[in-house]
Amino acid sequence: MGRLSGKRAIVTGAGSGIGRASARLFAAEGAKVVAIDLVEAAVDETADMIRKEGGAVSSVAADVSNETAVKDFVEHCAAQYGGVDVLYANAGISGGMVPLQEQTVAYWQQILAVNLIGPFLAIKYASPYMLKQGKGSIICTASVAGLRANAGATAYSASKAGVISLVQTVANEFYGSGVRVNAICPGLIETGMTKPIFDGARARGSDDKIGQLNPMKRYGLPPEIAHAALFLASDDASYVNGQAIAVDGGLSSTHPFAGRR
Ligand code: NAP
Repeated sequence: MGRLSGKRAIVTGAGSGIGRASARLFAAEGAKVVAIDLVEAAVDETADMIRKEGGAVSSVAADVSNETAVKDFVEHCAAQYGGVDVLYANAGISGGMVPLQEQTVAYWQQILAVNLIGPFLAIKYASPYMLKQGKGSIICTASVAGLRANAGATAYSASKAGVISLVQTVANEFYGSGVRVNAICPGLIETGMTKPIFDGARARGSDDKIGQLNPMKRYGLPPEIAHAALFLASDDASYVNGQAIAVDGGLSSTHPFAGRR
């Protein structure tokens, strides 16, 4: 028996990074997974990996900021697997490091549409299945950038602070329902999103400096976030609700410090 045996799980952003690692881990732990990503080839590649690993998966190419598309992929999960038990609203974009004076309203709208309205829409359409059965787990990927400054650009950080507020307020809106709503706040993780940082550091020969600001003295890998998502998705987290859990090597626990070694 896996830790998610019998559960039906939707994972967005499943074509890469944290979402791919989570979809694979959820399936390995017995969940039937609906994997969502913008690019069909990417999410199909994840689905192929899961099938080769013996898991159950269905892949859908969809834009998480498009209300009709979100409604459709949630209904697809219900039609394919008979319901929804776990939603991992993970897809996100960084928007790059654009100086404030160069940011446009369209730039903000795009980041908020994917990073904040995306999770809202997924919750809006997936939660009725959970509320009806009196049980379910909703997880959103926020970021340490949503906790305080210097971990992302302005719009990205504001969107992730919004995600933290979203899980807190929705957890309370679902008062007494049995549906839990939590966020994970990753620190620096090597994924498609952070590739430019890693590529740049490796090109400069300074890759040994990446991740030095946290007490673990290293960056993280997608499975390290996936395991936190697995915990929250599973009944092991049956009393964890309304939380924004940092998985960041201790980065968000510290005041600024000069390296010890
Ligand atoms: P990633 O490797 O780029 O994965 C994100 C996936 O989401 C990509 O496949 C991306 O597709 C997809 N996506 C983007 N916009 C979408 C949309 N509108 N609809 C559907 N899918 C969409 O990056 P990641 O690091 O795993 O990111 C996962 C989450 O972790 C994000 O919410 C991110 O903000 C958060 N996070 C990451 C870090 C980090 O250090 N990596 C730290 C804190 C938080 P494309 O590649 O085609 O855009």
